[in-house]
Amino acid sequence: MADPRTVVLPSGVAVPVLGQGTWRMGEDPGRRSAEVSALRVGLDLGMTLIDTAEMYGDGAAEEVVAEAVAGRRDEVFLVSKVLPSHADARGVAEACRGSLRRLCTDRIDLYLLHWRGDVPLEETVEAFESLVREGAIGSWGVSNLDVEDLADLPSGAEPQTDQVLYNLSRRGPEHSLLPKCRALSIPVMAYSPVEQGRLLGNAALREVAAAHGATPAQIALAWVLRHDDVIAIPKASSREHVQENRAALQVDLTAEDLATLDRAFPPPRSRRPLEIL
Ligand code: NAP
Repeated sequence: MADPRTVVLPSGVAVPVLGQGTWRMGEDPGRRSAEVSALRVGLDLGMTLIDTAEMYGDGAAEEVVAEAVAGRRDEVFLVSKVLPSHADARGVAEACRGSLRRLCTDRIDLYLLHWRGDVPLEETVEAFESLVREGAIGSWGVSNLDVEDLADLPSGAEPQTDQVLYNLSRRGPEHSLLPKCRALSIPVMAYSPVEQGRLLGNAALREVAAAHGATPAQIALAWVLRHDDVIAIPKASSREHVQENRAALQVDLTAEDLATLDRAFPPPRSRRPLEIL
């Protein structure tokens, strides 16, 4: 089943607005087959953007992804990330080779700087550009960069996304970062869209969910996806959660729902520093 909703990255590539995260996957061998199967169900349902990182399980999450996409690599838009401690010219190239090996592929579609460290952004971007020229990555982007950090990117740099913490309980980016990314035509990728499950007991969320015959997770995802240019990457390691999350694309929140959620989770009135998990 194809995902009906996509967003176009600056490169011109269209990706689904609802993808799949993988943090904590690969850490417990006993859960591996369930994780692989959950990711495959997501692919069947059109959630073909998979987000991973060299950091997750020290590479083990990338190995889970490799198993999930085996035989269907071309259906998938693969996102991985380099640690800031590897973000110098040589480190990026080596880290990318390691990720490609674990992912059993010759191309990462989108390679992100996981967060800003001590290496000058210019050096990291040059290393990314050289990987693009070699064909090892299709494009590059950033993660956890706030407005000032984006302004520090070298001039002419064209990141495909800024992957940041954004959900009902983390609305800070709405004040300045989302407008900034919009001005730059960079879709934001919202990580931890259900706040790792901590949101789901909230009374207002449950009330809106009940009115839609939906679950709190579906409402939390539909809320993030109310923007046309925000991608959500929930992580789910059971088939049931993946199916439930996919159905969030069918939820249309009303103005009344949004007002209820605004009262419980007020939008930011002033600039807040970007939060990180
Ligand atoms: P999340 O997606 O908000 O939450 C994941 C948790 O929610 C898991 O425990 C999962 O349980 C549960 N869950 C998923 N769907 C559910 C449903 N329908 N009903 C009830 N519970 C549900 O948090 P996250 O994993 O932190 O963020 C998502 C992805 O974003 C990560 O996996 C990672 O790829 C990326 N990320 C990036 C950064 C960064 O710095 N760039 C930081 C954090 C995360 P089960 O696993 O049991 O299904």
